[in-house]
Amino acid sequence: MEWYRMSVSEVLNRLGSSEKGLTSEEAQKRLAVYGLNKLKEEEKINFFLLFLKQFTNPLVIILLVASVVTTAIKEYVDTGVILSVVVINAIIGFIEEVKAERSVRALKKMLVSKAIVVRNGVEEEIPSEYIVPGDIIKIGSGDRIPADVRIIKALELKIDESMLTGESLPAEKKDITIETPDLLPADQRNMAFMGTVVVSGRSEGVVVSTGENTILGKIARSVQEIGPVKAPIQKKFENFARLLGIIILAACGVLFAAGLMMGGSFREMFMVSVAGAVASIPEGLPIAVSVAMAVGVARMAKKNAIIRVPAAVETLGSTTVICSDKTGTLTKNEMTVVKLYVESRILDVPDSESNEEGSVTTSRNIEKKDGAKVVDLLRIGLLCNESEVIKKDGQLVIKGDPTEGALIIAASKFGLTKKDELSRFPLVSMIPFESDRGFMATLHEDGNQRILFVKGAPEKVIEMSLASPEERKAFLETSAKFAQEGLRVLCFAQRFLPSYKENITGEDLKDLELVGLQGMIDPPRPEVPEAIKGCQRAGIRVVMITGDHVDTASAIAKKLGISRENQEVISGQALEKMTDDELYEKIPKVSVFARVAPHHKLRIARQFIRRGEIVAMTGDGVNDAPALKAAHIGIAMGKAGTDVAKESADMILTDDNFATIFNAVKEGRIVFDNLRKMVFFLIPTGIAAVISILVTLFLGIPIPYTPSQLLWINLVTNSLQDVSLAFEPGEPGIIDRPPRHPKEPIMSRVLLERTIIVSLVISLGGVYLYWKSLQAGHELEYARTVAVTTMVFFQFFQTWNARSERLSVFTIPFFSNKFLFLSMMLAILAQLGFIYIPAFEWLFRTRPLEYKDLILSIGMASTIIVVVEADKLIRRVLCRDNFATKECRY
Ligand code: ATP
Repeated sequence: MEWYRMSVSEVLNRLGSSEKGLTSEEAQKRLAVYGLNKLKEEEKINFFLLFLKQFTNPLVIILLVASVVTTAIKEYVDTGVILSVVVINAIIGFIEEVKAERSVRALKKMLVSKAIVVRNGVEEEIPSEYIVPGDIIKIGSGDRIPADVRIIKALELKIDESMLTGESLPAEKKDITIETPDLLPADQRNMAFMGTVVVSGRSEGVVVSTGENTILGKIARSVQEIGPVKAPIQKKFENFARLLGIIILAACGVLFAAGLMMGGSFREMFMVSVAGAVASIPEGLPIAVSVAMAVGVARMAKKNAIIRVPAAVETLGSTTVICSDKTGTLTKNEMTVVKLYVESRILDVPDSESNEEGSVTTSRNIEKKDGAKVVDLLRIGLLCNESEVIKKDGQLVIKGDPTEGALIIAASKFGLTKKDELSRFPLVSMIPFESDRGFMATLHEDGNQRILFVKGAPEKVIEMSLASPEERKAFLETSAKFAQEGLRVLCFAQRFLPSYKENITGEDLKDLELVGLQGMIDPPRPEVPEAIKGCQRAGIRVVMITGDHVDTASAIAKKLGISRENQEVISGQALEKMTDDELYEKIPKVSVFARVAPHHKLRIARQFIRRGEIVAMTGDGVNDAPALKAAHIGIAMGKAGTDVAKESADMILTDDNFATIFNAVKEGRIVFDNLRKMVFFLIPTGIAAVISILVTLFLGIPIPYTPSQLLWINLVTNSLQDVSLAFEPGEPGIIDRPPRHPKEPIMSRVLLERTIIVSLVISLGGVYLYWKSLQAGHELEYARTVAVTTMVFFQFFQTWNARSERLSVFTIPFFSNKFLFLSMMLAILAQLGFIYIPAFEWLFRTRPLEYKDLILSIGMASTIIVVVEADKLIRRVLCRDNFATKECRY
């Protein structure tokens, strides 16, 4: 169907629709016929492949090889244990991956795109999926076109169609009829296609095809792909595990060869090597890491921050600068006009709306009281306006831009309504507001002439006026005065034009008559000052970047605690004149950038990055996308943000609130901390086991653990506790530390030193009890049971140690991590089963321990707490929060 060749009425006719849109019932029916407006179902998770993938892990391959050889030398029980461990491990890995995959999809669902449709004659916002052919939809800058649309009305409409056509310049779209047959989509200038992006302007159109029937659907390309990409830290861990695997394999090969040469039997030396390999492979780590990441993502989502790119979880914790928009993020974006300036007078706007029955304030009344100009001023605010205010459940609800809503409400307080005024001055044409342009203009009929209304940033509008120098000065001074009180100021102007005017041209936008100013408050979000203080304590700079007036911005920045008295504010104008190098020099001292255009944000982000800062940057508009991409963490507003901003962001705030960013940073730090805790918990066991084996080889006694016993420790008791460290809630004071350098290794110096100490204590303690047990005349199986049990209890206490790097574990509430508590109890129960259940005895060749030996094991293991607590205490005293010295490098 060549929709672009038909007139609008023909299109509407064919689609059985009208300018008032479909009825809800009709839309419902069509939905049943045409199906949801979305592209092919995402591929189902391929469970089988995902399961097989678990066996491609190099560590698993080592284990598989070990099982082949144990079969060859007829150690069938060991083979069985190794194989079941491999399978169990694969199942856990598989479950974790399915969960991760599902949660990515769930997050995607939270980000459904919405569209504004006209149904039953009224506008409503619905998920784009429910759009059907025949729907009338409204689109504006930053939107991604939700279906294929024939344009009915277009205002300065420019659409980026590069994803369909490869053309990088945006295409201008018009509400015209085209005769030429067989045009390619790129040349159909009255059509807008699914997946393309509105760069500027506004439009109304009728949907001609949806879902698979759109051009995009036919070429079957997905618009938005967020895959379960792994965070760099996960890759780091994977590489670490791979490297470890290779080293272990090589070391065991050497151990095996050396053992043979020294006259050991093949069988014995092989079992020793396998035990060494099994002990030092941290099988549980990759799973624990992905759990820690997933826990972080889930916690952030609960606190209104949706992570689109997993890497953000890790980067957030290192953030050093947050560049935030003002309106809506730091403030509530609940605008209320409080002051008018007209005919050299400042008027206060009453608090409540005019009462329609009581003291009626009609425009005529105001004219008498305040003068005709007040009416003109309010009227421009009403009519040069794309938004609506409706009453819903007794509450006024703004549909559209809150700034414009405030103007409507202000006018209503003086008895003026949009409906009445619009019937007197019907709309002819419009230039919509865009941040880059800084003003908006509308053209109206006015009897036998036309009238142009303009509203926008005072400097912009005054520049277009024919006001005398005195008048300009008065306007600028008043605007500055309003701004210094933290008010957002808009200037209003008008001009009479001849009746033949149909469009607003550049020529018309001069010689305007200045009518007045309106100043509105936008209260700061109450939770923001606290969050800003938090950021400052955390060593994070907060920088405000706003399109608003310099004085307004700096008044609000001071109120919020972002900037100090007399601190320099850089304006967009000044920025234009600065070179990048000058900006680079200035940037450390500036906390407020005002009257900036979106493209300035990119420059600011780049200079911060050049200074080595880790930058988080917020944005909502289509032009913010480059800055969001350039920053380390692009943050888009979930409510006010455009589709394009959201798609360019790493994180989305569902509540648009600055405090949410701060909370997400905190969560990011917790994730990293927990990763460290897991590593510190896990690595010493492996090292200790290897040391124990070496020591016993050296002493010439049998090794203290069989390979299957080591697997038991590694995979059952350890992994339970390791994974639950991912749920640690975060230590007090986590936000009072300076940001972590992103290159900082997982193992800090302190942790490395502590790991060595702990490994020594565990191995020597274990070997000592094992040796004593042999000395006491117990059989080898019994002594090995002592060794394994001691190791498991060492791990039990080591879990406690791992809960904080700096603080004494006794200051951390015992039950603050329920999972951890549970897993510790489970590990102990499992171990008791291991010792006392006959089936386990047979499987792992253990013996029931006398209770005296059990207590001895526990006693020995508890020494690890004493040792680590002493280390923590010494460092606390020595360092006193001085992190510079090498002993204190956490
Ligand atoms: P931020 O970047 O913090 O969101 P902002 O929303 O104040 O800042 P803009 O929306 O670019 O930035 O507004 C810049 C200026 O443009 C405002 O100070 C105001 O004078 C003017 N302005 C804002 N909204 C409109 C509008 N709908 N019509 C006309 N002028 C507007």
